[in-house]
Amino acid sequence: RNERLAEFGTTIFAEMSALAVATGSINLGQGFPDTDGPASLLQSAADAILAGRGNQYPPGPGIPELRAAVAGHRQRHYGLSYDPDTEVLITAGATEAIAAALLGLLNPGDEVIALEPYYDSYAACIAMAGAHRVPVTLRPPAFALDADALRAAVTPRTRILLINSPHNPTGAVLSRAELQAIADVAIEHDLVVITDEVYEHLVYDDVVHLPLAGLPGMRDRTVSISSAGKTFSVTGWKIGWVLAAPPLLAAVRSAKQFLTYVNGGPFQYAVAEALDTLDPSFYTGLRDSHRTRRDLLATGLTEAGFRVFVPRGTYFITADVSHLGVDGVTFCRELPSRTGVVAIPSSVFYDNKAAGESLVRFAFCKQEPVLREAAARLAALR
Ligand code: PMP
Ligand code: GLN
Repeated sequence: RNERLAEFGTTIFAEMSALAVATGSINLGQGFPDTDGPASLLQSAADAILAGRGNQYPPGPGIPELRAAVAGHRQRHYGLSYDPDTEVLITAGATEAIAAALLGLLNPGDEVIALEPYYDSYAACIAMAGAHRVPVTLRPPAFALDADALRAAVTPRTRILLINSPHNPTGAVLSRAELQAIADVAIEHDLVVITDEVYEHLVYDDVVHLPLAGLPGMRDRTVSISSAGKTFSVTGWKIGWVLAAPPLLAAVRSAKQFLTYVNGGPFQYAVAEALDTLDPSFYTGLRDSHRTRRDLLATGLTEAGFRVFVPRGTYFITADVSHLGVDGVTFCRELPSRTGVVAIPSSVFYDNKAAGESLVRFAFCKQEPVLREAAARLAALR
């Protein structure tokens, strides 16, 4: 095994989903919806396959229709303009976008500052690039950014800030002030920022998702990443994308071409059509249905005795298990056999394990009866 990967065993998502299957548990671990995306989207993928659209290698940067649709979506939702030919790249999910961005932009020995807890592929991809991660910890209850800690983390070797908002696993959404603090540091130290915005449409209550690229001075130093998987509830399709100024995009593309080259031809046509045609009510409906489910699970967890950090975005809830006298890893290992529910110990998302020791993550992108049943099972822990 390559020594750069030695510290990374099996991804927690594979491990916990296998445990869910083996124990017949409700899987609130790995974040994937239990209902597939809009019927029109599914139909257009089937149509594309049967009509012979995309069954052979699509163009390396992605089909022009999808690149234009991604740029159009960015313009419509945030008023940001990108050239589909030089500033948009289609990838095998956001996962490949993150890998290609890190591999394409880093040199061995560079440092990447990432907001901890972080999605597990960040650490592995930074390691594969031969770079070093420097965590800045988000702490409960709000998991807000500590701008002083961010400043203090910068060294002469820092090249990239890697952020994620709405944030997995905490559900925090960076405010304008927090984004401005990140922008100030990036501009002062001439850093590139990679921003993972896969949950851009999953924000609740009065929260608005602001893309970092929209802040003054940030557009041309920001690599923005998103994916169809979360917005359209098709995580298996693995259609993601990158938006960045031409020199940054070219660097990402140079890595991407040797990772997968291309992927998901027919799905690219279907996602392009969905981005172009689904009207604003689709996005409102997505938010509303997830807010209802968030509230259902948050109430269930609170009634079961957990301290719950109600998320402002994503489809994850973080809860504290310290009242049960165990840490999150022990709790999650025992939970399936005790209650028939699977969750993820948040400490896997931390370098600074102590900061996440008592936290666990539950996914609520499930049908309401499933969440009600999960809440009933968790009530046994009271
Ligand atoms: N980033 C974050 C924060 C995620 O939660 C996920 C998916 N769980 C991804 C990236 C990966 O997205 P995709 O499935 O499109 O590769
Ligand atoms: N992004 C999802 C999660 O955080 C799934 C990730 C995965 O399976 N790699 O649960």
